[in-house]
Amino acid sequence: MGILEVKGVNKRFGGLQALGDVNLSVKENSVHAIIGPNGAGKSTLLNCLVGKLIPDTGSVMFDGQSVLGRAPYEINQMGISRVFQTPEIFGELSVMENMMIPCFAKRDGAFEMNAIGSVLSQKDIIAKAEEMLKDMNMADKRHMNAASLSRGDKRRLEIGMCLSQEPRLLLLDEPTAGMARADTNNTIDLLKQISDERDITIAIIEHDMHVVFSLADRITVLAQGTPLVEDEPQNIRGNPKVREAYLGE
Ligand code: ADP
Ligand code: MG
Repeated sequence: MGILEVKGVNKRFGGLQALGDVNLSVKENSVHAIIGPNGAGKSTLLNCLVGKLIPDTGSVMFDGQSVLGRAPYEINQMGISRVFQTPEIFGELSVMENMMIPCFAKRDGAFEMNAIGSVLSQKDIIAKAEEMLKDMNMADKRHMNAASLSRGDKRRLEIGMCLSQEPRLLLLDEPTAGMARADTNNTIDLLKQISDERDITIAIIEHDMHVVFSLADRITVLAQGTPLVEDEPQNIRGNPKVREAYLGE
């Protein structure tokens, strides 16, 4: 049994079957990549895991509990954290302020300052945010406006914000999209470090094969809403079915 078990998931948008009978098992503490041509249904699948979309049929179990019918914030509290395709940070706020936001949310379950007896816990929040900045190698950038960070550092900050919630499953949707090679390589190194040092499972949707083959323990290839192959990276390379799916890309 994987930490994440998707069984028989279907999702239609009107006449379009975006997901057709998707099965997926993600092993605890692994890095699992989901790849496939544009429009294959990768983001739709991810949205079904975090409560942004509800599958028409099928089940999604995280650590033995169903996520279906739960609100995104409840799924987040279950231990699933998600990095968006475009960085979701507050550009006008400093790097440190950004990092403090999820620490508040983790404590209160909401973006809410608790006025009573909050002095010590505010200190804790600051300490936690500082620790995360150090872990992310961003301590020297703590006073910078988040908007002025490089693309790679924005992503780094966002990943740190997710990690400060101490998720057991980190989901990433094309985290290196639109990045220059140097930023992409930094992101690969960061994700490797996170996977090695933390008790965490990573599921990553990725278009860039260099990223996929640098990180993944296992790969699921999605084509037209249905898993085509699931295997170890060395067996995915050169698989004729996979090549066919990517033809015309
Ligand atoms: P991928 O992330 O693999 O590129 P998506 O999951 O975004 O693919 O999309 C799968 C298919 O579903 C595409 O044909 C897309 O146009 C369609 N689709 C995605 N979201 C919606 C939506 N909210 N309404 C209608 N069609 C959608
Ligand atoms: Mg997508």
